[in-house]
Amino acid sequence: MHHDVLLLSRIIEYIPVGIVVIKADCTVYYANLLAEQLFNCARNQLYGKTLDHCVSGFNIHLSWGDILERIFKGELNEVSVILEPVDRDVLICKLDVFYVGGDENQQNTTIALMFRDITQEEHIAEQIEKKNLEMAKMNSELIRSNAELKKVSEMKSNFLSIASHELKTPLTSIKGYSDIIIDNMKDKIDSGVFRMIESINRAADRLHKVVNSILDVTRIEQKRLRLKPEMLDLKSVAMDCLDELSQFYIKRGIKFRCDFNDNMPLFYGDKMRMQQMFTNLFSNAIKYSPDNSFIDVVLFPENEDRIHLVVKDYGIGIDKSEQKNIFDAFYEIGSAYRHSTDYTKFMGGGSGLGLSIVKGVIERHGGRIWVESDGAKENEFTGSEFHVVLPVQSEISWDDDETKALIIERVEDNEIMDTNEQTDLKPTILFIDSDKEAIEIARMVLEIAFDIIVAETGETGLTLAFEHKPSVILMDSYLPGLDGYRICRILRSQEETRDVPIAFFSAGTQNDEIQKCFASGADDFIVKPFSGRELVDKIWRLLMKKKEEETFK
Ligand code: ADP
Repeated sequence: MHHDVLLLSRIIEYIPVGIVVIKADCTVYYANLLAEQLFNCARNQLYGKTLDHCVSGFNIHLSWGDILERIFKGELNEVSVILEPVDRDVLICKLDVFYVGGDENQQNTTIALMFRDITQEEHIAEQIEKKNLEMAKMNSELIRSNAELKKVSEMKSNFLSIASHELKTPLTSIKGYSDIIIDNMKDKIDSGVFRMIESINRAADRLHKVVNSILDVTRIEQKRLRLKPEMLDLKSVAMDCLDELSQFYIKRGIKFRCDFNDNMPLFYGDKMRMQQMFTNLFSNAIKYSPDNSFIDVVLFPENEDRIHLVVKDYGIGIDKSEQKNIFDAFYEIGSAYRHSTDYTKFMGGGSGLGLSIVKGVIERHGGRIWVESDGAKENEFTGSEFHVVLPVQSEISWDDDETKALIIERVEDNEIMDTNEQTDLKPTILFIDSDKEAIEIARMVLEIAFDIIVAETGETGLTLAFEHKPSVILMDSYLPGLDGYRICRILRSQEETRDVPIAFFSAGTQNDEIQKCFASGADDFIVKPFSGRELVDKIWRLLMKKKEEETFK
């Protein structure tokens, strides 16, 4: 028995918890070794004293007296306290309390207090808390800068979109005037000047292409790329694109080797956008290949649902580190000239927009694109392999008004009619536009085939429409005073002008503008800049459509 007591007291003495036993009057009766260390005080100095000056609440602002009061009432069994040892840094301890003994009158109450040092744990918890706070702050900063970046990117897209539309108006004049000179005045002007005009005309075409590419990029970025899907034979779309490009690769001795699978399923997609995809991939392959090299094009069904296209060239290759970036808008690794070697000639560089449009178009069709290349090495042709996977039946949404406008744009772009046969008809065209340059060009182009009446304001236009009952009315949507849409509505509401074909002009191709144009009752939409030929073509189409409608009435 004696041995057991000794053992127990030794355990209590050396247990790694500071134990202090107090009596009912709160004075210390016993302290173990660790308690001595925690209080940094010899136990006989603690005996008979209270702990008033060296213990207080942690996190709960209570004095030792308050804490004890609660302990005695049985309200507190466990609490964190601050210890203030003599001549040492404060410690944070977890305090557990239990009654060791006592009678009913609380005369001999003895309470054991067990202090466990949690200073380190608290310190770590505090650090974690601090780090958490910092991370939360960083997170909110990231969210903010993300939102700012998004805003800047939106502003950039908007700016590009507006700037491109603005560029289209002056381009109309450059293109229109140079077309007129090239088509009608070759004999009248000096041959040197004529060549300059031809190069202005080509430059205008190139600029028009860049402006259209920028508009495509902004459409893709703003998720406004609408499609007109139809069942397509991709093999023939690819072949047509190769034919179109033949003038660029044949003279450089480049040969396309096509391996098109015989069992290709039809693909449901937008033809014009697919042409854009093939043309961009093929022309890049041509651009970055040496003269007299091969380009392989493979088209095969991966399975029932997917079509795989590979365009493989044996050209300069693309560094691994650049392979992701080349699909970003405006990204160019370097000009083709810089990559070229002494014995190889490359065609000039581009605008860095092609692949980003290709990627946007493919993703809009539910597919994906990637490139494989062993990198670009000096004086070595490592080649590049572009892979495209497209779902055969992608779920493409499209809306009627936009598609209607797209069809119109495409008719303008692709199917220019020979107008010379119909020149003896001379129908009357009413042209309502406040843009003097546009009027001038239209007058010069149209005079040969049509009688032209011009109005510079909406009000005059309306009066002339009722007076002359023109065969076709062309007008700008933005007019001072009475705007184009209102004029159109008025004309449609009157018996004598109800059936006159009406087409709007505008520098804009924005969706709401196109919708407004059709909603007001117009038949067609002409996007500036238009060429003289397009304008004539458009008018004949409107006239023929009207004739057809009259025949079937
Ligand atoms: P660009 O109009 O400059 O050709 P793209 O967006 O089509 O713009 O291509 C971006 C860049 O990717 C190009 O500037 C070129 O450096 C690189 N690139 C694209 N296709 C090839 C290819 N077939 N071989 C080597 N480099 C290529």
